[in-house]
Amino acid sequence: MQSSSNTYDTKNIFAKILNKEIPAKTIYENEYVLAFYDVAPKAPIHALIIPKNPYISYDDFAQRAAPEEIVALTKAVSHVANLLDLKEKGYRIISNIGKNAGQEIFHFHIHILGGEKLPFI
Ligand code: AMP
Repeated sequence: MQSSSNTYDTKNIFAKILNKEIPAKTIYENEYVLAFYDVAPKAPIHALIIPKNPYISYDDFAQRAAPEEIVALTKAVSHVANLLDLKEKGYRIISNIGKNAGQEIFHFHIHILGGEKLPFI
């Protein structure tokens, strides 16, 4: 588990993916966001979408991101779901925020899960 301090850790795994220090299976990319497959999928289809700028969590993103970044990320979720052919049967989006939610990587990310009937939450 990486640090969950209030300071963005520039060496977190997703920062390294953005810097191309470690590889990822890219699904979609634009000026504002990167989407790639989760390395340890919790559903038949499990993607992650991250902003390119450094935000610790959804909460940090909501507070500090520019409106165009928020629009871009929101629309990218829908676009990626479409690319992954998830729209017809449905999918789930999740973002863990902080320790109690089990956030492990402190670069904001949205999980997209689908490809089967997901457990009720
Ligand atoms: P969270 O617990 O919400 O912080 O989720 C972190 C997610 O990142 C987990 O689902 C991990 O499986 C995933 N993950 C960790 N390392 C990598 C990596 N190198 N590439 C893709 N996904 C990763």
